[in-house]
Amino acid sequence: MNDTALKAEGLYKVFGRNAQDAVKKLQNGASRDDLGGATAAVIDASFEVKKGEIFVVMGLSGSGKSTLIRMLNGLHPQTAGTVTIGEDSITGVTPAKLRDIRRHKISMVFQHFALLPHRTVIDNVAYGLEIQGMSKEERLKRALKITGVVGLSGWEEKYPSELSGGMQQRVGLARALAADTEVLLMDEAFSALDPLIRREMQDQLLELQSELGKTIIFITHDLNEAMYIGDRIAVMRDGRIVQIGSPEDVLTNPANDYVEQFVQDVDRAKVLTAESVMRKPFAVAHENSGPAAALQAMRENAISALYVIKRDRTIVGWIRDRDVMDLVRKGEKSIASVIQTDHGAVSKDTPLADLFIPSLEAALALAVTDDKDRLVGVVPRVTLLAALGGEPDAATSAEPVVEPLPSEVVDKVLDASTEKGGTL
Ligand code: ADP
Repeated sequence: MNDTALKAEGLYKVFGRNAQDAVKKLQNGASRDDLGGATAAVIDASFEVKKGEIFVVMGLSGSGKSTLIRMLNGLHPQTAGTVTIGEDSITGVTPAKLRDIRRHKISMVFQHFALLPHRTVIDNVAYGLEIQGMSKEERLKRALKITGVVGLSGWEEKYPSELSGGMQQRVGLARALAADTEVLLMDEAFSALDPLIRREMQDQLLELQSELGKTIIFITHDLNEAMYIGDRIAVMRDGRIVQIGSPEDVLTNPANDYVEQFVQDVDRAKVLTAESVMRKPFAVAHENSGPAAALQAMRENAISALYVIKRDRTIVGWIRDRDVMDLVRKGEKSIASVIQTDHGAVSKDTPLADLFIPSLEAALALAVTDDKDRLVGVVPRVTLLAALGGEPDAATSAEPVVEPLPSEVVDKVLDASTEKGGTL
């Protein structure tokens, strides 16, 4: 099955005279400032958006985002290149076909809502369906349902001026959703809203998306918004797409200095996850390790505790050097009696923001597990802090959370031990 919802190839938009010439010049390596009177708003943009994906186009004002998105639904004819939505190319089609595509394949939510002021909420939501030619009864039924989906039940008969900004944008969203197109274009759709309402709308969009599985192309100049809602982000600069990647890619492997500068003040704590900053544990103990072997491992790595895992790496708990040393002194052969089960492991998908408290509570570097509870790494506290400071690779060593026992003491106990050939 083809899972591409929309594909753009070599898209150019040049405003002004001799646009075609300008494209040729650009293709031959001319710079954007070298085009006489013409403005190259979008230069050689190519990307594919997968079905059900939230694809964010991000860049500073003037970088070409709006022009790009308007070429995707034919509001701006492109100067060169092609756009395909599902099976339909929108390049060189008749105006009637283009209208048809806009009604049935791709709908748009605008920054300033673009509601019809003299129509009620329900009539605004149903408007697109009216244009699609749906019967009155059917479209009201559908509009009523979608109005409920966006949380506006009870407001159906109000006029736009009676609603707050957030509510008006919900109407805009409902109108786009009602058309039931596969692709939704959202142009700075939340940028005019207050920060708290904006965050609410972002959450609602993610929730709706998980239910409805639409393909969404979302434009924003706000990196935090891009990082929060995007499955992938295309970063634009001066008309060109300079990087396409997941939020984590863009943050940790910026394609160039421009992207790097852009991402400097992003809220890393929400974007990065435990998996992206975790380290390999220095050592672990196995469930059936002998106490002397476990103590030896702690001594060698100058750490005061170890995680204990099963053969399949599922995490069982942790052990402390003091307890293990007692076992060695007593000549015990198993660590089982001193394993503490409150290991406090976190899932590898946990955002950094949610690691602080577990990290403070953990007696050793925070354990990170996969979806089968297997230990896949640890996050030492210094690593967590370094990652938040924007240096994911700065701290490679795990600091001891609790001072380990002095090595001379441990050596003496180990020398006296009769446990031979213990392995971890
Ligand atoms: P963004 O959405 O990222 O703010 P735009 O796509 O609106 O960027 O603009 C990209 C560039 O194209 C800007 O330099 C802008 O001035 C120019 N531009 C946009 N629309 C037009 C137009 N209709 N005529 C001439 N220049 C335009």
